Amino acid sequence: MQGLVLKDLGRRFGNVDAVKDVNITLQPGEFLSLLGPSGCGKTTTLRMIAGFLAPTSGSILLDGVEVSSPRGSVPPEKRGMSMIFQSYAIWPNMTVLENVAFGLKLRKMDKADVRRRAGEMLEAVRLSHLADRYPSELSGGQQQRVALARALVIRPKLLLLDEPLSNLDASLREDMRFEIKRIHDEFRITSVYVTHDQSEAMVTSDRIAVINHGKVEQIDTPYEIYTRPTTRFVAGFIGRTNQITGTRRAGQVDFTGFALPLSLFTGTEPEVFISIRPQSLHLSATEPVTDDLFKLRGKISARAFLGETWDYVFRTDSGLELRIVARPHQIYQLGDDVWATASQDQIVQIH
Ligand code: ATP
Repeated sequence: MQGLVLKDLGRRFGNVDAVKDVNITLQPGEFLSLLGPSGCGKTTTLRMIAGFLAPTSGSILLDGVEVSSPRGSVPPEKRGMSMIFQSYAIWPNMTVLENVAFGLKLRKMDKADVRRRAGEMLEAVRLSHLADRYPSELSGGQQQRVALARALVIRPKLLLLDEPLSNLDASLREDMRFEIKRIHDEFRITSVYVTHDQSEAMVTSDRIAVINHGKVEQIDTPYEIYTRPTTRFVAGFIGRTNQITGTRRAGQVDFTGFALPLSLFTGTEPEVFISIRPQSLHLSATEPVTDDLFKLRGKISARAFLGETWDYVFRTDSGLELRIVARPHQIYQLGDDVWATASQDQIVQIH
């Protein structure tokens, strides 16, 4: 079987489960992000994939071959992978071209091929014009592109990226996300990207594994993760949302100041949690004529103009507060009486 398989993967440090029962299968060419807060186990997972750290349970298979398990591990240099870190780790005494060519020379490729392949790679990362410069003469973003070119030129089976953009300033980071995506689309190297930045994960990835306390909470496409979060943690970690808690009763679920039919919900637990994104709520000054089950009356209790949107806080008499994002022309004043509605498909049950 091709690709990368993490099977019941776990790593304990003393009595702490840094990584627990992780099951992920990456198709060849897929780009997966491991996304989660500090200390959730992303780096530990990546280090096990790289072979720097042995698992305490489970195993890792690369192209059908077991490379890591508590019984033993294939050393990192024999895994056919490249790794990129936040520090660019390119050689300061070599030019850009020499840096990129180095891995090929080590593989004893003949000179003309080395020159051609390194040249092509520099073109792919748009650095051909800087081939003769030294790293100290490059910007941070350019250095990270050299690192990317150097990692990809050997055509690894697997590319591992550990927060590669965290040393760059905000606008460069944004450009580089698209750059990484473009380069991945061109070379389709199976890639695992560790980040705590949800935008980075969303731009670059085919799928995202959201990790919390060493476990995968949800693994899916960026679109599904955002629109259909399955847990309270994922709903809160990816983008902003309104999380509302209700109580299951006969025939309905009671929330603060409103109720929804029980038939909308799965499970049997007494508490029911829902997530409604701020931009899924619609504001109107008059009572809207709608079949929407979610229709509440309240007031604007805070507002901020952010240029592309208005950010409102809507508050009902029962004390329920909701964040609502509206278009710039939808102007309400503090204290305005308004209605907030959401269609049923925008109300997501989370667990
Ligand atoms: P960050 O984003 O801050 O790098 P992370 O998600 O990569 O965090 P890990 O570095 O994988 O998290 O750490 C996961 C957990 O394992 C943490 O609680 C950490 O303290 C613990 N841990 C990691 N390495 C070791 C170690 N060598 N010895 C003991 N505990 C460790």
